Amino acid sequence: MNEQEFGFETQAIRTHIERSQFQEHSTPLYLSSSFVFDDAEDMRASFTEEKERNIYSRFSNPNTTEFVDKVCAMEGAEAGYAFATGMAAIYSTFAALLNAGDHIVSAGSVFGSTHALFMTYFPKWNITTSYFDINQPETIEGLIKPNTKILYAETPTNPGVDVVDLELLGQIAEKHNLILIIDNCFATPYIQQPIKFGTHLVIHSATKLMDGQGRVLGGITVGRADLIRQIYLFSRNTGPALSPFNAWVLSKSVETLAIRVERHCENAMKVAEFLESHPKVNSVKYPFLKSHPKYEIAKKQMLLGGNIIAFEIKGGLEAGRAFLDKIKLCSLSANIGDAKTIVTHPASTTHSKLSVEEKLAVGISEGLVRVSVGLETVKDVIADLEQALA
Ligand SMILES: *Cc1c(COP(=O)(O)O)cnc(C)c1O
Repeated sequence: MNEQEFGFETQAIRTHIERSQFQEHSTPLYLSSSFVFDDAEDMRASFTEEKERNIYSRFSNPNTTEFVDKVCAMEGAEAGYAFATGMAAIYSTFAALLNAGDHIVSAGSVFGSTHALFMTYFPKWNITTSYFDINQPETIEGLIKPNTKILYAETPTNPGVDVVDLELLGQIAEKHNLILIIDNCFATPYIQQPIKFGTHLVIHSATKLMDGQGRVLGGITVGRADLIRQIYLFSRNTGPALSPFNAWVLSKSVETLAIRVERHCENAMKVAEFLESHPKVNSVKYPFLKSHPKYEIAKKQMLLGGNIIAFEIKGGLEAGRAFLDKIKLCSLSANIGDAKTIVTHPASTTHSKLSVEEKLAVGISEGLVRVSVGLETVKDVIADLEQALA
């Protein structure tokens, strides 16, 4: 099967179906921590990697390999490694590639725990980070130093739903010989494939839209084979591997990624248009609304607008909290990318420890509400938001 000729959905569904001697149509679950060898020579050759085969599930497992191969096919990546969580993927990717004294240039608005890695943990090993404003990528080059090794960003961002030009980041990385790493969690490979724009490694929290039903945690890094090799060897020794069960769930999930994400985005567009026309809403941020400051860039690099909307309620912190209290159908929960619509108020929850100025610097005003639009009948979601705004 020449996979290059197939479309996205076919690749997500048909890439690397793992079957036992029973020829199951649906991949079985390989709950085995280790694998057996035929003889001493088979064991020797496997450990020296002359033979590509499963040895121990911390290294690889049929279910995790199927998931990795599917994501590689969707992202157009050479290789990958799957992790227990998105944060395990992010931590292990940096830890595998960086040495003491190295420097990272990152967008300021990144996922909260990624921010904590940069600010609290990496400095313990003398790895430092400089931040650029996601809306001013022209300032990136001024931050690059002789010891800068990695350029890092998320697009769209969490929770501000800002967008950064991937082609521009690719050009900067190429010019300065940096490893460009993109957290593509909000877009998914169906909407955006950063490798096409010169990204070297793409990271996902598979917990979000990839699972899509709020069941399992997972993470993955895919991209250039030589970099993945370093990440694999680091991870094989340090143990952040994805469990076979979660890999099995995720391989099933990606079979329906395209059709789910399409509906998520269709619903999100309708919710965004509703919010934009509402008198109690100051502003709405959604990549495919013309009012989004980076609408043209979003249209260039994204197939659809995603399922996350950030909007600003009139009345600040109190109005934001009051809105959440009136929500009936949607969930107040700390996840995104679920079939169930989720509403959060970052200023009083995930980002409550930041000062008002620090929040604004990463795009979070006191009245900002984030909606992860789900797969319910969209009129019901809109009706719930409408009664909560009233
Ligand atoms: C959730 C999330 C992560 C972390 O993933 P986990 O699976 O929760 O560890 C990283 N980046 C982004 C953008 C996320 O939304």
